[in-house]
Amino acid sequence: MSITTLKERQALYINGEWIPTDEVEPVINPANETTLAEAPLASRTHLEAALASGREAFDGGGWRRMSQAQRQSKLAEFLAAIERRSEEIIPLIVEETGSVLAVARFLQFAMPLQLARQMVDISTRPTLTPLPVDVVPNEHGSLSLAAGVVSREPVGLVVAITPYNVPFFCNVCKSVPALLAGCSVILKPSPYTPFEALVLGEIADEVGLPKGLLNIVTGGPEVGAALTTDRRVDLITFTGSDKVGATIQAQAAPTVKRVVLELGGKSALIVREDADVAMAAAAGLGGITTLAGQGCVLLTRHIVHNAIRARYVEALRNLIGGVKVGDPNDPAATMGPLIREAARSRTERYVAVALDEGCKLVVGGRRTTNLDRGYYYDPTFFDGVSNDCRIAQEEVFGPVGVVIGFDTDEEAIAIANDTAYGLSGAIFSANVGRAYEMALQLRTGGVIINGGFPRLTSGGPFGGVKRSGHGREFGESGLNEFTYTKTIDFQQ
Ligand code: NAD
Repeated sequence: MSITTLKERQALYINGEWIPTDEVEPVINPANETTLAEAPLASRTHLEAALASGREAFDGGGWRRMSQAQRQSKLAEFLAAIERRSEEIIPLIVEETGSVLAVARFLQFAMPLQLARQMVDISTRPTLTPLPVDVVPNEHGSLSLAAGVVSREPVGLVVAITPYNVPFFCNVCKSVPALLAGCSVILKPSPYTPFEALVLGEIADEVGLPKGLLNIVTGGPEVGAALTTDRRVDLITFTGSDKVGATIQAQAAPTVKRVVLELGGKSALIVREDADVAMAAAAGLGGITTLAGQGCVLLTRHIVHNAIRARYVEALRNLIGGVKVGDPNDPAATMGPLIREAARSRTERYVAVALDEGCKLVVGGRRTTNLDRGYYYDPTFFDGVSNDCRIAQEEVFGPVGVVIGFDTDEEAIAIANDTAYGLSGAIFSANVGRAYEMALQLRTGGVIINGGFPRLTSGGPFGGVKRSGHGREFGESGLNEFTYTKTIDFQQ
């Protein structure tokens, strides 16, 4: 099989078969606005088939009763098969997402494989935990000796819904732990990036994953709504915007499904007076330009001590001057396009609102002028921003950052916490002890001290609070999301 066949097939992966669809929709390459292929669109009949297949694969019991070592071995094969196709999958990631090549190689491809391998390794964790021995009164009026275990069980049929910005990452990092835990999966990617999901069907075929364990259906909100309201689904794991996350939580409520929500962010970069300004500005640059600003954990609010703010702004301006916005396949390009015209015009509207609100534009604030095809926008940042401006509060999801001044640590913490979101955050300071004390006061799922991007492969849990969602991914906490606990007592 090749990516060309995948694109021409116009079929969904259901119950281990490729099922053609009557309806298709074009997928656009954001770097040049050409149609890269027509993607299949699932109908109600396809969804029925996927739901029945996923249910049967779980209820049949073959997979969930298999030994953990057998499941680990199958998923290790699955990951090895992905790795063998790296030279096809990485260009596909570039084509669908517009990620520059280096980011596609590392963040979009190598990192999820590393995380998934870690999850394979740690999934041997004990699934039985003994309970204390105790003496309890029994039905004969005498005493029994009681003991017990807590058994971790797979939750059942999982629906995984993924976004367009890190699609391959999310497809791998949701499907692999769910399967490791003994669940079956229906994967629904963003309609902007369908092939990075469908390719996993070919991988499943190649390694002989039992039929129905991984079903892949493509389409938009209607497809997602049908899956998240269906009573046969036990758990939804969703990565996307807070708006859609809230809708999904409501859609899941009537059937009382479990929901894991990994949502948006507006993360703070606190730069103390004693910080290494050059390092902090480099982290700030990453917060604006990585994935053209289309990243959930990006540091978009730069909260900088007023004594060094002018130096920070100058350093960041200089770094932005060195950014090459361009075709993501050009190895010299350091920032690619936004995903669609709608994303670029949303960014433009936010910039206009910021100017109206009196924020001072330092650099950028316009479409990239030397590229006439593709959804490019220049990296942009504002200084002198008040934290209550819309540009400081709402997720732009474009290459835009804001600089907000502060005078005391307490003020920095208050500004950082004054947001609807809580996903990531960073503190730059020569005094790491003080930075640690401040990190403990931030209401967010993660904080990096003297670094700009979370070390996702630490084995630590990843996730948010407030409108950034609930539930955790990666490591043991991530695996546990795909299980429930059952307490079994023995009395004699
Ligand atoms: P989105 O919320 O628009 O869409 C995400 C997915 O939900 C897509 O597959 C979409 O088709 C589907 N969907 C839309 N409406 C639905 C409905 N009613 N029911 C079920 N499914 C539905 O997000 P996006 O624009 O693709 O991605 C960007 C967002 O994702 C940003 O907010 C970003 O911060 C967030 N994100 C979060 C993380 C994280 O780990 N916290 C990681 C990456 C992206």
